[in-house]
Amino acid sequence: MRAMVLNEPKLPLELRDVPKPKPGRGQLLVRVSTCAVCRTDLHVVDGELPNPKLPLILGHQIVGQVDEIGEEMWDGPEHPDSRGTPTFAIGDRVGIPWLGWTDGDCSYCRSGRENLCDNARFTGYTIDGGYAEFTVADARYCFHLPERYSDVEVSPLLCAGLIGYRSYRKTGNPRRLGIYGFGNAAHLIAQIAIYEERELFAFTRPGDKATQQAARELGAVWAGGSDEMPPEKLDAAIIFASVGPLVPTALRAIAKGGIVVCGGIHMSDIPSFPYVDLWEERVITSVANLTRRDGDEFFKIAPRVPVRTQTETFALEQANTALDLFRAGKLSATAVLTIAK
Ligand SMILES: [Zn+2]
Ligand SMILES: [Zn+2]
Repeated sequence: MRAMVLNEPKLPLELRDVPKPKPGRGQLLVRVSTCAVCRTDLHVVDGELPNPKLPLILGHQIVGQVDEIGEEMWDGPEHPDSRGTPTFAIGDRVGIPWLGWTDGDCSYCRSGRENLCDNARFTGYTIDGGYAEFTVADARYCFHLPERYSDVEVSPLLCAGLIGYRSYRKTGNPRRLGIYGFGNAAHLIAQIAIYEERELFAFTRPGDKATQQAARELGAVWAGGSDEMPPEKLDAAIIFASVGPLVPTALRAIAKGGIVVCGGIHMSDIPSFPYVDLWEERVITSVANLTRRDGDEFFKIAPRVPVRTQTETFALEQANTALDLFRAGKLSATAVLTIAK
């Protein structure tokens, strides 16, 4: 099969003909239709995340069709965080997310926090992902996808949507919600926030009037540069940009008891700030990965809103182009690799 392979961080992906994977116990062999490109893919290529599997097939927002089912389905003890294993038949559409496997046995898995599992494996990072014609995935971590979306449309929901949603839920029940970094994840989560009648404040790169305008058109009550203070104090803020100095900035924009949620997997260093900015029970937290429960919840609410995605498609062979444009900030929508012919 054709695959775009990362041989080593900081090198472009290489188009290679590699053996088609075989589904093991409990796994599905999936013919990949689409795979959206995530900022995490960039972090892996650029060597900003430690110890990727090498060589590696990137990609963790995978939509495809079940082509083959591993001989033995899972028959071990039920995972404590399981929502029941979804059943798949040959030909079913399937979504494969970032969380690829957990042990079901560590203290995190046993307390409903499989996103923090000590031994978790991640699609397109520590196991091969979807920048290829086929991939295998543990059926227990896969999703059935809402029918209203095409394969291209639904693909960005599998990470920007799911992990964005987990970040959003961490904010509690804010009336005024700020989002710093108005890219793909922000665009999806903003739609849910507005649907749930929150006041949305969008912070972009200083001077990025086009994105500010887009945020207003989406329904933000205020949009401005990340160097500006909102007209009113916020109850919560999510930071999707991988820019550490935004943490103290966001902290100064929130009211007493407010929370700042860092939604990315990688961020530059956070500068020091006076304690008074944290005082009065303000909270800073990060969001790591997702649980299957987050995914189930998100795929219920997304079609009701309905959350709309903006996409730009690329052929599998153009993955490097997509990554380069992403890195340069030159994509105006989520890049989606279209793979099955
Ligand atoms: Zn675990
Ligand atoms: Zn991702």
